Amino acid sequence: MGEQVIIVGAGLVGCLAALAFHKRGYEVNVYDYRFDPRDESTQDKNLRSINLAISARGIESLKFVDEHIAQRVLRDVIPMKGRMIHDLRGEQESQVYGLFGECINSIDRAVLNNFLLDELDRYGIDIHFGYKLVRAKFNDKRQTCIFSKMGQDGVTETVECDFVVGCDGAFSSTRYQMQRAVRMDYSQEYIDCCYIELYIPRTKQYIKKFNGNFAIAPDHLHIWPRHNFMLIALANGDGSFTSTFFGPWSLVESLTKSRDKTRKFLLQNFPDAMALMGIDDAVHKFITYPKGALMCVECNPYHINGGKAIILGDAAHSMVPFYGQGMNCGFEDVRVLMKLLDQSMGDRSVAFKRYSETRHKDLAAIIELAKNNYKEMSHDVTSTVFLIKKQLDSV
Ligand code: FAD
Repeated sequence: MGEQVIIVGAGLVGCLAALAFHKRGYEVNVYDYRFDPRDESTQDKNLRSINLAISARGIESLKFVDEHIAQRVLRDVIPMKGRMIHDLRGEQESQVYGLFGECINSIDRAVLNNFLLDELDRYGIDIHFGYKLVRAKFNDKRQTCIFSKMGQDGVTETVECDFVVGCDGAFSSTRYQMQRAVRMDYSQEYIDCCYIELYIPRTKQYIKKFNGNFAIAPDHLHIWPRHNFMLIALANGDGSFTSTFFGPWSLVESLTKSRDKTRKFLLQNFPDAMALMGIDDAVHKFITYPKGALMCVECNPYHINGGKAIILGDAAHSMVPFYGQGMNCGFEDVRVLMKLLDQSMGDRSVAFKRYSETRHKDLAAIIELAKNNYKEMSHDVTSTVFLIKKQLDSV
């Protein structure tokens, strides 16, 4: 029997980490405080984007763990070869990402997470739903995790293992427990930006040029940049688009006090998008849907010496979503860590230490890039269009 690992969190990164450790012969147990999201009655009502962009970084990492999984995931994606900029008059400008057809890919978050959970089942990896990590004790030989059982007031269960991998997201309890045992630098920063999910429904009729019931081109990430706020939309497989509004909290708070104000604001700033969404539906969602906050988390180191514990994914590096790399980077964490484990012949103390030493500069850089990309998406893309148009006009 291999060494025992507890993975805290059965989100996107926790699932991939579980598969990667299982494939290296470890005995893996995954714990998540949610109930099984594949069960209709317990579906995750978590406020998170409905679809995500998976990029080469994420796909390479999936392939590294399991080629079959990567191929299966790629069957469900909608490739986006560029961004489509919508100006105030409803004119659209395609800006391709690369000269050789390079793409990012839209994928349904739930489909991806549920598929990965199914893979864990297929490999016989134990997933314990409804278990919330509340305490962890890191000792020389064995590690102890205490879980509270969700829905059972005051009931806890204590489990031992050789090491713990925290993939429990931005508000990670594993990280918090590790901070009691290691001198970990840590920072958390909220940015002044709120997000609200809106929706563009599928068209009733099949649109030939889009090869489906899409109202706008599905092979682009759509952006309505308006300088200090913006709207984006990514296609879903059924012809609909998940659209997200991003803007300062003060703006959202002042708008949502009045239906009329919200209606006027949306019609003035996104007339073509409102024609697709239906203004009444958009106003209703804008006012009543949950408002999400965006934050960055940075820490260092990511492990406890002796190979006792490590954190991956958002638990280690939560970033704002404007670069579309949070999950991709979490998948990459798994690939980087597995490579280091392979290089150190499975010596966890060496691999975890090396991971913290080498990974931090890349993670700090991508957190910064993600922050900077808000300005790029909401403002600079319009400047580019403006400049090109100006240059063309003067020819
Ligand atoms: P999570 O997805 O947060 O999963 C953590 C899991 O741990 C959850 O299942 C939770 O239930 C469980 N958990 C938490 N605490 C405990 C506990 N104490 N005990 C047991 N279980 C626990 N990334 C991209 O790559 N591309 C994108 O296009 C993109 N778009 C985004 C859009 C928005 C609006 C937002 C907010 C984020 C976006 N991201 C994107 C980022 C992406 O969502 C995250 O990086 C990704 O979900 C991180 O995965 P994770 O598994 O590390 O954490």
